[in-house]
Formats: sequence, structure tokens, C-alpha cells
Amino acid sequence: MDARNSNGSWFRTAELEPGVFVIEEPWHDERVKSYLITGSTGAVLLDTGTGVGDLRSEIQGLTNLPLTVVLSHAHWDHIGSTHQFAGEAEILIHPDAADELRAGVSQKRLRRYLAPAHLSGPFAGADLSRSLAIPGVEPTGFVEAGQTFGLGDRTLEVLDTPGHTAGLIALWERATATLFSTDSAYDGALYAQMDDSDLPAYHATLDLLASLEPRPRLVLPAHGNSPMDPRLLPRMREAMASLRHGQQPSSVADDVATFDHGEFSILVAWPLAGAAGA
Ligand SMILES: [Zn+2]
Repeated sequence: MDARNSNGSWFRTAELEPGVFVIEEPWHDERVKSYLITGSTGAVLLDTGTGVGDLRSEIQGLTNLPLTVVLSHAHWDHIGSTHQFAGEAEILIHPDAADELRAGVSQKRLRRYLAPAHLSGPFAGADLSRSLAIPGVEPTGFVEAGQTFGLGDRTLEVLDTPGHTAGLIALWERATATLFSTDSAYDGALYAQMDDSDLPAYHATLDLLASLEPRPRLVLPAHGNSPMDPRLLPRMREAMASLRHGQQPSSVADDVATFDHGEFSILVAWPLAGAAGA
């Protein structure tokens, strides 16, 4: 099946609260989620997914407000449809992730990520050949910590949340205590083992998220279940602290250690470089 010709079935879109839409891609095993946040005068699209479905027409079916595309970071499953918005929307990313966005994702790399083993449901064995490359995009601007997006009756603030990657950001709506936690916190395997991951930075990020005031009421992540239980935030902070203080992993395979905490786990490159107890 060609996902672009069956858009309705590639995405699963829901309005979680007035003006807050989750756009999930349930048939790829990352189950990545982009979010559309609409106010009275403008809208923010947080991330653009894998690039498999036609995200632009999906968004056009939800809003015709002026749109700003904010990218949490430049991993392939968050930037896939960015090129569809080039020339018609602001495209913003943290400076530390900009080169990765400009580079795009080659057909060779994408073929691996979109292999049939990653697909299910109506897309099991799908031909996704038309999606097998993510074009590089020049951002129209950059985001930084503390920057706000005024959408009329609502305001989103940028939080710097590096660790999973440098240049990862989250969005925070203080008035409704809604945290869009992107790849910094979700109920699944938290990846801190990649070349671009940084454990001390990740720890500082979890500390920031678990200390937000007011306490997050609604946590909307890019993977796992959405919403995520906000009570996991302090547990993730504590899990990261124990890990960095020499706790032994639950398992180690292929130079990756897994620290299992039930609803979530933390994956780190093993052995740990330069950590206490390592
Ligand atoms: Zn990522």
C-alpha cells in the first residue's frame, strides 16, 4: 500500500484537549507523535514525523491558521515531512541540530529504518519507496531556551532539554501545565547510548522537567503513550541519578546497557565512560 494515497490510515489524529492535536504514526514501530497546537491567532506544529504520510494535507485538514514548524531535534522520525512546509511556514530548530536538518536522510539510511520489519497493520509489507529519502531543509530561524511562541490566547515556551541529542528542545505551556516532552521523556526505552547522546546533560534535563513549576498536569511525549503519566518524571530523574552513581544494569547486550524501571528503561553505551563507579 502506498501511504500517500491512503493518508487517513497512516496517521491517527486526535484532539486531546481544545486546540491540542496528537498526530501519531501507529503502523511504524517508533509510533512517533507530532503535535499541532492551535491558538486564536496562530498554530505551532511540533515535529513532522517520518515523512511517510502526507503530513501537510493532514495539518491543512485541522487548521488554516498561520503555522510555525518547530522541530524538537533532527532525528529522522521527527523531520520527515519538514520539506513539505518549506516556503510557506517558518521552520525553526535549535542551532546545534541545524546541520543535521540541512543534511537530510539518505535513501540508504532510510531504507533501514522503514524496512518491512518496522511496519505493521495495513502497512505490513508496504511499498514505501516514494518515502525513501528525507530532503535536507534550510531552517528559517532558530530556537533558544526561554523563547516563547504567542498564539493569541496561548503561549508556548522553549525548554532546552539536551541529552538524548544536543539541541533537543521541549515545549511548555505554563498556563495549562502542559509539557510537550518530545524525546526527553516518554514511557519506553529512553535512548542515551547514541553517538550524539550526553548522559550528564540528560540527567540535568530530567532534573529540569521533574522540577517544573507548576507541576506538569499533562505530559505529551513523542513516543510511547500519550499522555504519559507525569509521576514518571521524578522517577526518571532518580533512575538517571542511580545509574550515574554506579548502579548495575538489568542487562547488557552489544555494548548497550539497559536499566529497566518497569514503565520505562534507560539505554546507555556500556561501559560508561567517565562515570562514578564505572
Ligand atoms: Zn530522537
